[in-house]
Amino acid sequence: MVLVCVGLGSNVGNRASNLLCAYDRIVALEDVQPLKLSQFYETQPAGGPSQPMFLNAVLSIITAISPHQLLEQFQRIEALMGRVRTVKWGPRNIDIDILLYGDEVVDDDQLKVPHPMMHTRLFVLEPLIEIDPDIVHPVLKKTIIQLYKERICLNQANDFPLISS
Ligand code: ATP
Ligand code: CA
Ligand code: CA
Repeated sequence: MVLVCVGLGSNVGNRASNLLCAYDRIVALEDVQPLKLSQFYETQPAGGPSQPMFLNAVLSIITAISPHQLLEQFQRIEALMGRVRTVKWGPRNIDIDILLYGDEVVDDDQLKVPHPMMHTRLFVLEPLIEIDPDIVHPVLKKTIIQLYKERICLNQANDFPLISS
């Protein structure tokens, strides 16, 4: 059994009920035990076209389902919920990402775990702190709270005005 952290996002329709519907469907899967669901965070869309604000959350589960089978199940739930893929990083009623699968590292055409963008996204790191700030990123070898601090500092550094000569 492995601890898996799952990222949930929605910016189309009733966002909160979309996240809750995905939660219900994920925890109803055979061999999945729910652990924690973070609060819902309203966040600015990162990348992609101009689009509405997102609601994001992280869910932790304990499961024996393999990483690729879990991805397949999550894509099935997205399809059942009517997700339509249009543009990359475009609006969606539901997005379900595997953020962390225990300490495992997967890197192939279908699946990359840890999620390659997770350490750069405050909308992932903030809810992950609620799940467990001490989880160690298996590639970067840093805790979630360290990654969060680094990201906050980077963002603040970018806020400083440029010094003109
Ligand atoms: P991002 O991955 O940057 O958050 P996205 O969630 O909008 O972008 P999708 O269109 O939902 O991207 O997924 C594109 C593909 O990403 C999927 O078909 C899937 O095969 C692949 N993928 C790779 N790693 C993961 C992962 N850890 N979780 C979910 N999908 C993944
Ligand atoms: Ca995503
Ligand atoms: Ca996705």
